[in-house]
Amino acid sequence: MIFESHAHYDDEAFDTDRDELLPRLRQQGIGYVMNISSDISSVSACIALAEKYPFVYAAAGIHPDDTGELNEDNFEWLKKQCGHKKVLAVGEIGLFFAEPAAWLGADVVLVLSYFFVSRRVLGRDA
Ligand SMILES: [Zn+2]
Repeated sequence: MIFESHAHYDDEAFDTDRDELLPRLRQQGIGYVMNISSDISSVSACIALAEKYPFVYAAAGIHPDDTGELNEDNFEWLKKQCGHKKVLAVGEIGLFFAEPAAWLGADVVLVLSYFFVSRRVLGRDA
């Protein structure tokens, strides 16, 4: 069985054939799909897909390119979405492999990402 661990089937590129494509994945040996949100609007879309298809799960998060849309209100909203029964991960959170990683190093960015997500989204201490 194959677990597709990083998909974006909520993307508009799949608007015309998503409901044909997703059922076919099972026929092709894909057991489960983790569909990853990339911005605030896609969190809801990912959860909707996870609710519609039993083998699809969702990750709720914001890609680093879209963190400008974050504020205290949608942080709280995002935290609530993480409690949905089909949300099993936080993502995208992204690793900054562009400019920040060049001077921080990917390991530092990973630690910062973990700290950021655990403190702000999950409400836990790192
Ligand atoms: Zn992605």
